[in-house]
Amino acid sequence: MSAGAEILLPRWVVPVCPEGVVLKDHAVVVRDGRIEQVAPADQAQRAYPEALVTRLPRHALMPGLINMHAHSAMALMRGLADDLPLMRWLEDHIWPTEQRWVAADFVRAGTELAMAEMLRGGTTCFNDNYFFPDVTAAAAQRAGMRAVVGIPVISVPTAWAQTEDEYFRRGLAMHQELAELPLVGSAFAPHAPYTVTDGAFEKIRSLAEELDIPIHLHLLETAGEIQASLDQYGMKPLDRMESLGLMTPRLLAVHMTQLDDADIRRVARAGVQVLHCPASNLKLASGTCRVADLVAAGVNVTVGTDGAASNNTLDMFSEIRLAALLAKGASGDPEAVPAETALAMATINGARALGQEDRLGSIEAGKAADLVAVDLVEPETSPAHHVISHLVYAVARRQVSDVWIDGKRMMAGHELQTLDVERIVHDAEQWRHRIQGDSVNDASRSSSLER
Ligand SMILES: [Zn+2]
Repeated sequence: MSAGAEILLPRWVVPVCPEGVVLKDHAVVVRDGRIEQVAPADQAQRAYPEALVTRLPRHALMPGLINMHAHSAMALMRGLADDLPLMRWLEDHIWPTEQRWVAADFVRAGTELAMAEMLRGGTTCFNDNYFFPDVTAAAAQRAGMRAVVGIPVISVPTAWAQTEDEYFRRGLAMHQELAELPLVGSAFAPHAPYTVTDGAFEKIRSLAEELDIPIHLHLLETAGEIQASLDQYGMKPLDRMESLGLMTPRLLAVHMTQLDDADIRRVARAGVQVLHCPASNLKLASGTCRVADLVAAGVNVTVGTDGAASNNTLDMFSEIRLAALLAKGASGDPEAVPAETALAMATINGARALGQEDRLGSIEAGKAADLVAVDLVEPETSPAHHVISHLVYAVARRQVSDVWIDGKRMMAGHELQTLDVERIVHDAEQWRHRIQGDSVNDASRSSSLER
């Protein structure tokens, strides 16, 4: 049964495809969760006289942002440990906290907290990588948010699985169950080359082919990872991934801060997708992804926030601004990653990396109505010389007022429609009490948490 059409009449439409275009006096017609048409406003209103009309006279309407690298539940560890190098941060703070606390209830509360933050900032889809992905998937489906959840594989026991076999068993069972959830898909999520065995990688490669799902992997995050790989395997991580048959378009490689010229050519040739997390890389001083060179080589570069424990926000507008600025600073080229490219990285490029380019990532007829309205008639984004420039360089996420996923209103006039923000924030505080109560012996951290 076909529901009635809805006509959205924004001041500007930023379809993303074709790149750089801004449409004025245009309507986006939505029906049954899909974009049916993008047409001149008067023409659309004549064609759909019965349609519900939603006027957005101050707004740019753009496709929903796709956060390509999230550990959503880690939102509960936001600010728990800062200003440390990656391995000390992981080994002394994050992993012990996870060992103590991560379970289904933690992941449910953390995912809801992350989704509330992401939706309020215009993110409609997230590519997640964490334990209890079944809980993340169910929370996303319940809230009406689109997600791809990772099947975790790591060679250490956790509350999710004790052995490598159990990681695969539970992950594959979840993959089957997800067939019932229309908004959520799965990927393999081996943690990193230094925490996953060759045997597990081989199994992942063949299963990912069979199930036709991506492989979401932290790769070349720091320089130390290269030496550790040489010591343990006698080869660099990219050589090892190639020998395992993983250098393909299925590979979603997160971070990639340690690439030489030959590596960039190899990544481009293989069609590997790069998931760039500029804030996390800067905060952990991991290194800098050579985004300008990757883009020039034709690599599909996408953007992610990483977890809120290493960012410390899930703000995709701030992330694309940083991606554009960092690419210029790191390459010495102010023309590197212009605003249009940065916006594409957070929308259509993410859709392409997930193999969902035909239904996500732009405002085009036939695609899912995953849409975001941004109020640009504010001092901070006036005058509106160049709408795409403002979306990348000037806008703040609080200017996002309305969000749709599959045509369903997720946020209306800044109010979330499917998530109870007050309860979510209350639950997060309860978790702070629990986590902090457990670490009272760590005087420096507990005092800084109270500050
Ligand atoms: Zn990560």
